[in-house]
Amino acid sequence: MICDNDNVCSICNYGGDLILCDGCPSSFHDTCFGLKEVPDGDWFCPSCCCGICGDGKLRKEIGPTPELVTCYQCVLKYHTACLIKKRADEHADYQRGSWYYSNKCEQVGVKLAQLLRVLHLAPGEG
Ligand SMILES: [Zn+2]
Ligand SMILES: [Zn+2]
Ligand SMILES: [Zn+2]
Ligand SMILES: [Zn+2]
Repeated sequence: MICDNDNVCSICNYGGDLILCDGCPSSFHDTCFGLKEVPDGDWFCPSCCCGICGDGKLRKEIGPTPELVTCYQCVLKYHTACLIKKRADEHADYQRGSWYYSNKCEQVGVKLAQLLRVLHLAPGEG
């Protein structure tokens, strides 16, 4: 079995008995999450669960559009089906490079992008 997951906990950065996320390479101690028992079968860390329905089975048949989108700013994931249900923004362009879940995320993201641009233009030359 090939295991590409981290061998240290993504919360405390220590090794040991880790539960592995089935959605990303992150590993965690069950105790760092306050889990009472190690989950059976597939387990998904919070950043791999849908921010609306909380379901980690992001690629299973949830609806007619089983795809998921990731907020460009906070890296939370959402089922497109859940977004459409919740916000009725069926026509939003989820496929564009920088999709933001909320206006707040967009504002933060835009601000950060500006900040980065300023940093790249930092003085030092000339
Ligand atoms: Zn830990
Ligand atoms: Zn994960
Ligand atoms: Zn969902
Ligand atoms: Zn966000």
